[in-house]
Amino acid sequence: MFADHWIIAQLIGQACSIFLLAIASWISLNIIRKWEPVSATELQIKLERQTYLISSLVRYVLFFQIISLFVFLFTVNNHLPGLIRGAMCASGTLTVNTYGYPLLFIKIFAIPLYATYLFMDHLDQSEAEYPLTPHKFWFVIPIFIMYISDFIITQYYDEDGKRKIKIEIAKKSEENYSPLSLPILDKIVPHNILRPIVKDKSLLEIIRERILSTAIRLVCIYNADWEGIRVVKNLPDSIKCPECGSTLISVAYRGDSDLYKIIKKKKKLKKLTKEESEIWNRAWKSASLVQNYGKKAIIVLASRGVGPTVASRILRKFIRNDSEFFKELLKAEREYQRTRSFWD
Ligand SMILES: [Zn+2]
Repeated sequence: MFADHWIIAQLIGQACSIFLLAIASWISLNIIRKWEPVSATELQIKLERQTYLISSLVRYVLFFQIISLFVFLFTVNNHLPGLIRGAMCASGTLTVNTYGYPLLFIKIFAIPLYATYLFMDHLDQSEAEYPLTPHKFWFVIPIFIMYISDFIITQYYDEDGKRKIKIEIAKKSEENYSPLSLPILDKIVPHNILRPIVKDKSLLEIIRERILSTAIRLVCIYNADWEGIRVVKNLPDSIKCPECGSTLISVAYRGDSDLYKIIKKKKKLKKLTKEESEIWNRAWKSASLVQNYGKKAIIVLASRGVGPTVASRILRKFIRNDSEFFKELLKAEREYQRTRSFWD
């Protein structure tokens, strides 16, 4: 079960044992069929030599198998629960899939079989005439079958267990970095102290998905003749006003209906208030970013709390790939969260 030193050692041992037991079973069949204790034929002498070989071979394999049962019990009880979530004890480890208990039962039921054979073998060896040969060899084949079943179920337990453990680990990391808990965490602890940057990978996916499905408001600042609400991911790479073809398109929040009015007012050369002026300046900056960087600028401006100043800093940076790009946005959003909680 599971790529772990204990288990690899067990598997190698078991594979060797299967090979030896296969040979032993084959020869046992021969001995059972052709054994003639009274005759002194060449075949009988050959078979007698083979009984020594098989007896000691099976003996060693069974000793190994009995030891491995204890290793298995130890592994299941002490070693694996740490790897499997919710498995505090052996029963949790065994129920990780449907193969756990059958595996344990096969191992336990095989013990009397092995013990009977070893006992018979012991009696047989202590008598000069080997009274239990060839009868004891009838046990070799069921032993072989038990052994193979044990081996095969172990493989299934292993494969299925590995898959489950992967799922558990994936679940765990999601739990630790739930997107809902992030802003709260950020308020309690300054960014990146609790959470290492490496862990941000799945988080980047979440943020990418969220930003790309944000609906934003676009306004033609050049002619003040168009405004529309668009979802970021549906936008073409270069943005143009559908009315006048201008590329000076300003980005605003979806709910921001004032911007269009202010731009129209400016277009009519009316005097803006100080506040309106500021809004217009920001809009102009964001429009020039959209003109220069197209959709990419809109993605940056659609991030939470990222205004034209921060956006232009991000857009001027040399960014190698998509994940680096979204990592920058994540950083900017966290910075915003952090300073906002400070100023609020
Ligand atoms: Zn226009």
